Amino acid sequence: MTILTPTLELACELIRRPSVTPVDEGCQALMMKRLEAAGFALEPMRIENVDNFWARRGSEGPVLCFAGHTDVVPTGPVEAWQNGPFDAQVKDGMLLGRGAADMKGSLASMIIAVERFVVDHPNHKGAIAFLITSDEEGPALYGTRAVVERLRARNERLDWCIVGEPSSTTLLGDVVKNGRRGSLNGKLTIRGKQGHVAYPHLARNPIHLAAAALAELAAEQWDAGNDFFPPTTFQISNLNSGTGANNVIPGELSALFNFRFSTESTEEGLKARVEAILNKHGLDWHIDWSLSGLPFITEPGELLDAIASSIQAVTGRTTEASTSGGTSDGRFIATLGTQVVEVGPVNATIHQVNERVLASDLDLLTEVYYQTLVRLLA
Ligand SMILES: [Zn+2]
Repeated sequence: MTILTPTLELACELIRRPSVTPVDEGCQALMMKRLEAAGFALEPMRIENVDNFWARRGSEGPVLCFAGHTDVVPTGPVEAWQNGPFDAQVKDGMLLGRGAADMKGSLASMIIAVERFVVDHPNHKGAIAFLITSDEEGPALYGTRAVVERLRARNERLDWCIVGEPSSTTLLGDVVKNGRRGSLNGKLTIRGKQGHVAYPHLARNPIHLAAAALAELAAEQWDAGNDFFPPTTFQISNLNSGTGANNVIPGELSALFNFRFSTESTEEGLKARVEAILNKHGLDWHIDWSLSGLPFITEPGELLDAIASSIQAVTGRTTEASTSGGTSDGRFIATLGTQVVEVGPVNATIHQVNERVLASDLDLLTEVYYQTLVRLLA
């Protein structure tokens, strides 16, 4: 029987609660109990079917907020796991279980770091806050986005936010995320006229009509990126047309596409340029647009400096600030004018069967969070 460190013990307790989105299964109650004992004022915010909470210790600014999610993605085939996905075990130095990396390990590290910090610095500067949701992996409508709207409505100011998403690539702290690209989806429909392939003059083939326009969209340079972002990319993910018969010209073509965009482009600008290309080719088109996230960036400053020097002190590593990867809840928090940085464990097995992290990495992460608190609020 291994004796677990406080961080690992709490991580195991969280993993044993099978909180598949949007269910919380008591994870937040467990966190809130610990925070209340550490002097936090609690504010549970259940919105529709989603449990969230806001907690704060201290009435002054600046505010350092820890943000994250208690929900996890589904397990996939349970029989493919070495141990049950919700058994939570430390074996051969690895913590195994759904959520070990994304992101119950980080939640445990945050709680333990904060508990230690308030014991060591009971009269710390400013305030410490927590913004926790149980819907990050799902539709994310009533999670962080909705909590942020409530905070905005009452002018709650968040200066700095650390999101516990698993940002590291191969070693703890090698990468932190100081921004994310924006994501814009489009469903394009191009209308032609159905007919017999032997009588093309009586039909209009939407595949032929679309081909040149799609090629131009695929070849377009949208921007050149900047110091923080790679160039904006455009990808077609689905392309459908045809009736299945080889003697029928179809009446319609549809395509799904996505932009991952830098701060050099805007939602409106990208839409206008796509529409101009379609119009140039004289197409009868329609697009349903949906924006899944605006880009955000936290430029070097107090928060990034405090995190980078804490990582250096704890691990000896020089961290790299990156904006790669998918979207995260950081995009909602950044709209409050907050500096947002994601700092968490290695993401190599997230969302996979046998999700795991190096157990000692979670103790290092606790230390990184602790030292960041010291640098900003002691
Ligand atoms: Zn996550």
